[in-house]
Amino acid sequence: MSNMNDPFDAHAVFALEFECAVCSQRSVFETSHAFASDKYFEALAEEARNSGWFCPSADSAGKMDVMTCYCPMCGVDGPPSVGRLDSPSDGAETSRPMTQRFQ
Ligand SMILES: [Zn+2]
Repeated sequence: MSNMNDPFDAHAVFALEFECAVCSQRSVFETSHAFASDKYFEALAEEARNSGWFCPSADSAGKMDVMTCYCPMCGVDGPPSVGRLDSPSDGAETSRPMTQRFQ
């Protein structure tokens, strides 16, 4: 089950793919899961997360830009309009709640 509070899961569900807002590169993604199924979205989000993609998390008002993401090259320092991640090395994490990363 996808977690809509997770920027990656939310992006996968709403945008159906990860395409960089800066250079238009798309994440390379292959899966045996049926397109647009829960498992598909989970695998897509996981792939982007593990590959170092950057998805803006919800702002203080709880509003999330689910259509914007950045490839590992463009998102390394975070987009100019969004706060930086303290550590860009979260790629290896798999299940830690995103809320713990932004304190
Ligand atoms: Zn890019």
